[in-house]
Amino acid sequence: MKWKVTQSKHHIKPQSRGGREIDNIVVLPHSFHKAWHLLFDTLTVEEAHLLIDMIMRPNRTWTISLIKKLRKKIEKKDVNKQYERG
Ligand SMILES: [Zn+2]
Repeated sequence: MKWKVTQSKHHIKPQSRGGREIDNIVVLPHSFHKAWHLLFDTLTVEEAHLLIDMIMRPNRTWTISLIKKLRKKIEKKDVNKQYERG
């Protein structure tokens, strides 16, 4: 993927989840911004940390479908400790 030189505004707390314009905008390189949403959709930074922590474990195989399901569970705060530690 090539980096574009343009920049775009990202809502740190997603607008769709109540994020407001004030004190909630970070300007990112457009390519980084696009990659963020590809990986984390509308997760918050804390939720993205949790997603990475849960995915990057040895001897696991992840499909796009499983990652999307996990992302939804994290967004809905529906992650139990068992699954988290799994
Ligand atoms: Zn964004």
